[in-house]
Amino acid sequence: MIDVHTHIFNEQIYRDYKKKAGKRVAKALVLQHFEHDTKPLLDLVSRHHDLALIATVHMEQNIPPQLRALEKLFCAKKIVGIKLYPGYQHFFPSDKKVYPIATLCQKYDKPLIFHTGDVWDRRGPKAGAMLKYPDPLCVDELAVRFPECKIVIAHFGFPHHVETAQVVSKNKNVYTEISGTIDEVGDSVAINRLRHQYAKDLMRAFAYFPGVKEKTMFGTDYAGERPPLNQFEPYVALVKSLFSKKEQENVFTKTAQKIFFD
Ligand SMILES: [Zn+2]
Repeated sequence: MIDVHTHIFNEQIYRDYKKKAGKRVAKALVLQHFEHDTKPLLDLVSRHHDLALIATVHMEQNIPPQLRALEKLFCAKKIVGIKLYPGYQHFFPSDKKVYPIATLCQKYDKPLIFHTGDVWDRRGPKAGAMLKYPDPLCVDELAVRFPECKIVIAHFGFPHHVETAQVVSKNKNVYTEISGTIDEVGDSVAINRLRHQYAKDLMRAFAYFPGVKEKTMFGTDYAGERPPLNQFEPYVALVKSLFSKKEQENVFTKTAQKIFFD
């Protein structure tokens, strides 16, 4: 299977992840954060054949030189996509400054991923994320302007599942994934309640937009053993409970294989 959303940023997290995932995961995508340097992540990924890197663009810094560096990495096949963080860096996915990034992804036929839906830095020095920017509906405009650019709405737009399904259903080039939504929050009763509700919400979205099932991918948002982003098994169980055996092949492997690696 392919895990399309992890934050395996060092050897320790890699080891902890492998303990949970075992041999099941053939590839885990490592999603860079805009506060991280690319170099150590490239080194990490080069040491492990089962990791692949998704780079990022720091939207509050000068963009053209970053794009030149990313183009080199695409050419050398060292990255398989780009992820952006609209809520944290205060821009809409449809903003003109995203256009050259979409153009670059399109040129190399690799996905542009948007963090969408809820944000988690509510407290502390990094607080200040805004929810209007990572609204999944805001991905629609970019998808229409760049129909050849593959776009991924991360986290199924949690908690805007129906809106996400609507955008994915409407645009041939838009995909989504289920990661980062059933975190370890509170006690086991709270976690079970969350899992149950999430499954119900996804079922509702699929009932309205059934075609979205085959554009949905498996992902965990695994970021190490420290809660809350330390879950693996609940995401596997969720996929098994919502999708038929045949559909599971797409969710666990085939869709991600097609859009990131073929
Ligand atoms: Zn993440």
